[in-house]
Amino acid sequence: MRHNFGAGPCILPQEVFKQASAAVLDFKDGLSILEISHRSPEFDGVVEETVKLVKELLNVPSGYSVLLLQGGASLQFSMVPQNLLPEGGTAAYLDSGVWASKAIKEVKHFGKAHVVASSKDANYTFIPKDYVIPEDSAYFHYTSNNTIYGTELFELPVTKVPVVCDMSSDIMSREIDVAKYDIIYAGAQKNIGPAGLTLVIIKDEILGKTGRSIPSMLDYKSHIDGGSMYNTPPVFSIYTAMLNLRWLKSKGGVAEMEKENIAKARALYAEIDRNPLFKGACAVEDRSRMNVCFVMEDPELEKPFAKYADENGFEGLKGHRSVGGFRASMYNALPITSVHALIDLMQSFEEKHKK
Ligand code: PLP
Repeated sequence: MRHNFGAGPCILPQEVFKQASAAVLDFKDGLSILEISHRSPEFDGVVEETVKLVKELLNVPSGYSVLLLQGGASLQFSMVPQNLLPEGGTAAYLDSGVWASKAIKEVKHFGKAHVVASSKDANYTFIPKDYVIPEDSAYFHYTSNNTIYGTELFELPVTKVPVVCDMSSDIMSREIDVAKYDIIYAGAQKNIGPAGLTLVIIKDEILGKTGRSIPSMLDYKSHIDGGSMYNTPPVFSIYTAMLNLRWLKSKGGVAEMEKENIAKARALYAEIDRNPLFKGACAVEDRSRMNVCFVMEDPELEKPFAKYADENGFEGLKGHRSVGGFRASMYNALPITSVHALIDLMQSFEEKHKK
């Protein structure tokens, strides 16, 4: 058996892949999910159920719209300021990683970004704390999980300004209080479904205040009014996301998943801290449950460990090219048995290389 610790795109349970592939051949009366009309009652049902599952799993309160969009989280980097930032206005951003810095880069097309704090000088090995969010900011933007560096921000910073969060890599992995956010967005491809779908949860009352003319495809209102079908939706990604959210619900929902994710992360970090050959790559208090980054105490052992992992059926452990070392991504679909197998592997490697 191979254990997939890859960072994506799209790590889903085998049973979801099986159901999705069956629907490619025969979704209804011998027709593929890819060829039925996206305006058919059957596909309407898929969109409706997907939105319902998101609302149910995340406890989305009334007054919020759930949108199934395209363009990835990267398009949200510009849609957010375009829809929320008044001409010449300023928005506050926390720079905790490359994705945050890419979001910051897009603001200049619409107004100004005020970076409240950055850990760039430390190669983003921690999440900055002790910063001030100016009260006249149009909104505050942060990334809840820094996929590349393995840091995660669990507590929402206290602020009176509207909060926007990029939750691409930890959405559905733990319980959140949606009411504290004005926009949550996430590229689907970690815990939701295949790439091509972007989930946006938006508080309706914050829209329509910029005075700016916004092209229809980039205007959240068009997508709210069109029920996420302003244009042809990514049918396969939405269908597979629906299957995956059904799976998540059958497992006891986000609360159960969170318990399992805590157990997985605890076990692996404990081994990293115990095993003299390995060490964690970032600040202990900011450690991510989704992406566990670690390095070897002796860099000479990095290649041998990578080879050993590969020979024993472990996929995707290589760290991001900008960080090096190893990254074990542990999205919802990764079973705890794979984490135990990785711990066994680290222990047997230790045995082989004991001095
Ligand atoms: N934000 C975070 C936290 C990510 O992990 C990623 C991709 O992995 C992105 C944004 C970019 O997402 P996309 O490729 O969907 O544009």
